[in-house]
Amino acid sequence: MGLIVITAGHSNTDPGAVNGSHREAEIACEMRNIIAHILRSDYGLTVKTDGTGNQNLPLRDAVKLVRGSALAVEIHCNAAANKRATGIEALALSRHKAVCQAICTAAAEASGWKLRGDKGYKPDNAGQHRRLAYAQAGGIVFEPFFISNDKDLAWYKENTWKLCRAVAGAIAKAAA
Ligand SMILES: [Zn+2]
Repeated sequence: MGLIVITAGHSNTDPGAVNGSHREAEIACEMRNIIAHILRSDYGLTVKTDGTGNQNLPLRDAVKLVRGSALAVEIHCNAAANKRATGIEALALSRHKAVCQAICTAAAEASGWKLRGDKGYKPDNAGQHRRLAYAQAGGIVFEPFFISNDKDLAWYKENTWKLCRAVAGAIAKAAA
């Protein structure tokens, strides 16, 4: 069983997308911490993260962790000017397409959110995170929901652990 890397998008100085008092970087940190905890405690996996607690190291540090890992996933939130934009997607190199689809499908089954792209998969040059260094290094950029969608954000706040459990299960299965 190889090393799993779970990192949080953006950083302590770059909040990412914002909706009211909710910041993408903080949601990413919360999901990173919970998913890493579940992978360690429920699945006995070795997990590296880009910080603990509220610490969210910048992208250059997260990218360094990707190399040498069996599977690396960075959590982001999607965002759009259209408040109704919704759905789940994961961006990566094409060799990770099946894993992206498995993680997105698990999140969709837990949340009821739709899958964007090809059953959740989008190439690394798609969308607002085009040519992401993280994906180019071999990692998966996972965007489970739109922080700009008030309804989806509210669901996330109520069901954080449910979503993280589903995602962790798919990651553990993919890494097996
Ligand atoms: Zn982001």
